[in-house]
Amino acid sequence: MPGLTAVDLEPHSALIASAFLPQEAAFAGAARDSVWYKAVIPDAIPPDPSQPLPSSQVLQAEVEDYVQHCFSWAAPPIWLTPASRVAEQGSGSVLLSFSREEDLEYVLRNGVFLFGRALRVRRFRDSGRPRPCSNCCSLEHSVRACSQAPRCGLCSGGHLTSEHRCGECDFFDDAHEGLAHCGHTALCCPHCGGSHAMCDSACRVWTRRSGAGPRRVRRKRGGGQEASAMDLS
Ligand SMILES: [Zn+2]
Ligand SMILES: [Zn+2]
Ligand SMILES: [Zn+2]
Ligand SMILES: [Zn+2]
Repeated sequence: MPGLTAVDLEPHSALIASAFLPQEAAFAGAARDSVWYKAVIPDAIPPDPSQPLPSSQVLQAEVEDYVQHCFSWAAPPIWLTPASRVAEQGSGSVLLSFSREEDLEYVLRNGVFLFGRALRVRRFRDSGRPRPCSNCCSLEHSVRACSQAPRCGLCSGGHLTSEHRCGECDFFDDAHEGLAHCGHTALCCPHCGGSHAMCDSACRVWTRRSGAGPRRVRRKRGGGQEASAMDLS
């Protein structure tokens, strides 16, 4: 609902979580969003690929074992590759989500030790569509990390997209879909300067960044984590 924020929703987090994930005791809660630093172990090899995949708890214990570094986890590690495929190819990728950048840097620098093997780790790239920063419309960061002046996704003016108004009609006074606009609007894309709103299929910056077109991205959701087609390979 427009206008609702984490502050409004947080008191009802248990109810909301149970609606989505009735079976998963581990996720029976919801919390305010925060920045996650994600890394991927591309070639994680389970001890016995014909057995069920080691659980998140086992993965976490493995990663923590034998290292001096103390990790701050945003979520337990998860397999991004479906079990059937791991069984087939003998390895799969594992997503690590940390709440601190230093943890990400640590694993990128040192790799991890998993089931007796030293493995390389790379930065997780979410190949899903970027969401523009709700303050400045940048596709490179979210509003939580924004230090820019506001910019409008319709006219590129120095105001929030949600505060765009028309001098000739009251279209924007009523509730409307994010980038809907009246016929008077002089569109100027904040990404390319073209005469369209941001995230338009006519925008070359957006089509390049969003991967709109040939490659379709399938998203899998669970516990706030996103796996992308790219990292399932
Ligand atoms: Zn921004
Ligand atoms: Zn505007
Ligand atoms: Zn108007
Ligand atoms: Zn554009």
